[in-house]
Amino acid sequence: MINHAKSRALYERACRSIPGGVNSPVRAFGAVGGEPLFIARGQGATIWDEDDNSYVDFVGSWGPLILGHAHPEVVEAVREASAGGLTFGAPCKREIALAEAVIGAYPGLEQVRFVSSGTEATMSAIRLARGVTGRDLIVKFAGCYHGHADHLLVSAGSGLATLGNPSSAGVPKAFAELTRVLPLDDEASLAALFAAEGTRIAAVIIEPIPANHGLLIQRKEFLAALRAHTKAAGALLIFDEVISGFRVGAGGAAALYGITPDLATFGKIIGGGLPVGAFGGARSIMANIAPQGTVYQAGTLSGNPVAMAAGAATLAVLSRESAWARLEDLGALLERKMAPILANAPLPVGQIRLGSLLWFFFQKGPAPRSAAAVDSACGTRFAPVFRGLLDRGMYVAPSAYEVFFLSLAHTPQHIESFTEAFRAALDDAATGEKS
Ligand SMILES: *Cc1c(COP(=O)(O)O)cnc(C)c1O
Repeated sequence: MINHAKSRALYERACRSIPGGVNSPVRAFGAVGGEPLFIARGQGATIWDEDDNSYVDFVGSWGPLILGHAHPEVVEAVREASAGGLTFGAPCKREIALAEAVIGAYPGLEQVRFVSSGTEATMSAIRLARGVTGRDLIVKFAGCYHGHADHLLVSAGSGLATLGNPSSAGVPKAFAELTRVLPLDDEASLAALFAAEGTRIAAVIIEPIPANHGLLIQRKEFLAALRAHTKAAGALLIFDEVISGFRVGAGGAAALYGITPDLATFGKIIGGGLPVGAFGGARSIMANIAPQGTVYQAGTLSGNPVAMAAGAATLAVLSRESAWARLEDLGALLERKMAPILANAPLPVGQIRLGSLLWFFFQKGPAPRSAAAVDSACGTRFAPVFRGLLDRGMYVAPSAYEVFFLSLAHTPQHIESFTEAFRAALDDAATGEKS
């Protein structure tokens, strides 16, 4: 057994000063049992915990680390920027550089506003959509995550009514009632909602590549239907590309599917590991934000020079190194190596992949395309496999409903050790199940 004594002691100490010992809930390992590891350092594809155990990291801080940990060019950009002052609360040149890089890469984007997290980006995009359209209703999809703003912490109501219910305590029912929740992969529900309430809808927000409830890859026809309905009804289409932006290609899902949204939100990769989010769209829409327009939006640390430098350095490395072709090769290798292992697995398990995003679903049949199609037993089947992977030095997300991330720092050797560890972990899990 691996020694986790120092992580355990730190966790106990953290629990006294921080609720649940963590600053974001999934980190607590609640879904898989056991206690979280305290990470001491990272380099490339490897992280070390406080007990000095090393792991190949397939979490990558949940998406930002597409270059791996502590990439020398990103670290150097941060060092250089920070030596010149950490924050000014005034315009600086580095904001323009990152804005131009994001705009240049993404279809239809003419302006972006920077914020400090993905949550802020989606929250602000929705306020903007409401301000521009003068309408209150927003539509989201079950299985998509857009951060933790009140009007997005909403789940589907029961029965035919799609009125949302708060999915967290503290979210007023009155707020949730302005959010409609639809199933993914379902044109009929979409058409019915637009027929009934289309003229009241300010915006539809979707992860065009839903990657927060497993990887629920959508049919292009469904995304095209969304585009058509929103356009016809005068509602805005918001692509939440906080994970997919610069992950599946420079132009995100919009370029991949050839569908241009009215607004797009970014985060994770564009901050290169520092806290950055952004939302953007056509100049005519973005002109509605203060100080030009009447939709208020602001941030003390927005456009922070150090964070801008980390983001710009990350995007520069990505475009220079044909990153997405290399990530596709790595992903394809992993998928190919896993295929026979999963086919002979002693548990129901399958895989689905888009570039460097991977998901292993612990159920029979084809990859699900909606939250309702995900078997609730996935979690219990995954937990022992997670432990087995961790014991073999593979750090993956501590939840059956999270994707695995590859980075440019992963090598074919990392993939080889991962697949062997996965095979052994599956065997162990099956033995444990019988005993
Ligand atoms: C991570 C994520 C968010 C929230 O970003 P934070 O920086 O955690 O606030 C929003 N949307 C999507 C699709 C995400 O994956």
